[in-house]
Amino acid sequence: MPDPLNAPEEAVAALELVLDHARGYLAELEGPVRTPAADAAARSFTRALPEEGDGTLPAVRQLLDRGTEAHVRSSGPRFFHWVVGGSTPAALAADWFASLIDQNAGAWDSSPLAIQLETLSLAWLQELFGLPASWGGVLTTGATMANFTALGAARQWWGEQHSVDVAAKGLAGLPPVPVLTSGFLHVTSLKALAMLGIGREQVTYCRADESGRLDLGGLDRELKRLAGEPAIVIANAGEVNAGHFDPIAEMSDLAHEHGAWLHVDGAFGLFARVSPRTAALAAGIERADSVISDGHKWLNIPFDCGFAFVRDPALLTAVFSATATYLPQEEVFAFRGPELSRRARSLAVWATLAAYGRSGHRAIVERCLDVAAHVAREVEAADDLELLAPAPLNIVCFRYRPRGVSEDALDALNLEIGQRVLTDGRVYVGTTRWCGRIGFRPAFVNWRTTTTDGDLLLATVRELGHRLV
Ligand SMILES: *Cc1c(COP(=O)(O)O)cnc(C)c1O
Repeated sequence: MPDPLNAPEEAVAALELVLDHARGYLAELEGPVRTPAADAAARSFTRALPEEGDGTLPAVRQLLDRGTEAHVRSSGPRFFHWVVGGSTPAALAADWFASLIDQNAGAWDSSPLAIQLETLSLAWLQELFGLPASWGGVLTTGATMANFTALGAARQWWGEQHSVDVAAKGLAGLPPVPVLTSGFLHVTSLKALAMLGIGREQVTYCRADESGRLDLGGLDRELKRLAGEPAIVIANAGEVNAGHFDPIAEMSDLAHEHGAWLHVDGAFGLFARVSPRTAALAAGIERADSVISDGHKWLNIPFDCGFAFVRDPALLTAVFSATATYLPQEEVFAFRGPELSRRARSLAVWATLAAYGRSGHRAIVERCLDVAAHVAREVEAADDLELLAPAPLNIVCFRYRPRGVSEDALDALNLEIGQRVLTDGRVYVGTTRWCGRIGFRPAFVNWRTTTTDGDLLLATVRELGHRLV
């Protein structure tokens, strides 16, 4: 009967299998993002729970063989769907090490290493993004949980304005929490509001036009209408369809004037501050009350990792502390975010920043900016492509628009191309609707991506489109 206790030495042999596999894998990561065999390979994992296991090496071999067929090369240079980063070599190795030593990053007692590196990495990130050193932060599983964490602090602050400790008493008996934002709001902020008991439908959108752009005058009117009643304003640094920004500095002025909390979702857009070429897009963020971003997007560390930063970290502890006599009594990261037991995510964050520094990460950001600018220029120069929105950062919203196809037929055509791109697999890109039109929205955040990959994206869309008309 296979039992790990009978063959503990197989751990090293299994790791060797993975390392051996990694040699070939990383060398051909430039290959097709997805192969036609992926679906069948994924569905081949169906057997019933084995009574007698296969043993360490056979099980790991199955995973490497069939699992590789079934996977999508999302960490390679041509995955432009959603906003998905890769793993820098240092981050990848550090993440393997995190699995090897399997630390619980909840507190110093369980891992001095993970806690020291989380403290240091958060300070480095604050420096990288130009956030005040006095703020406090915590690593989360991603931007969804970072939004949840930071908005949890905002909710606690809001309760205090009503003289209620919401973490202790709950929201019962209090008025609805007013939340104001633009049409750029990401769905995960809504999800966070739902999880926090604030409610998705408490959001007032101040939209200037169909794109969802902020109506600043409208925001001012809404805040005046509240007449000093505490409110949460959410600014969006980088919306997901075209990479556009709310006017954060102006929103910060209004929030201060009206005593509101300003939260900024910068899941990828906070990285605009890493390059002087785009920093102005995200000016004013240092005056917000809370800011979040993602590690597994533009920082290029493995899933999963996000960061939440809050001006007054005591609010995080007020929400997330969980005291018990068997747990540490001092303030620990487990009491700044939703999880008690936590993966040592800080190792990969520390490793990539230690390995490549500020200038290496600026180079990654700027290479992606270059690819986006190149793709946008090529789209504008082509007579069968149309740019649907300006591309200020790393997302290019465009559609295929050959001569002789009516406006009415273009949405269906672009959706069909979108389907075919995913099965074609040379590149991977999703579609969206921008101001009523269906288009593509490649997002460039991977450290390996170059303009050659951007060219292949356009060539693939045109080739598949041409075949359809
Ligand atoms: C990706 C994204 C999120 C959610 O992040 P996850 O890491 O997927 O949870 C939130 N906001 C914005 C703007 C995003 O791009």
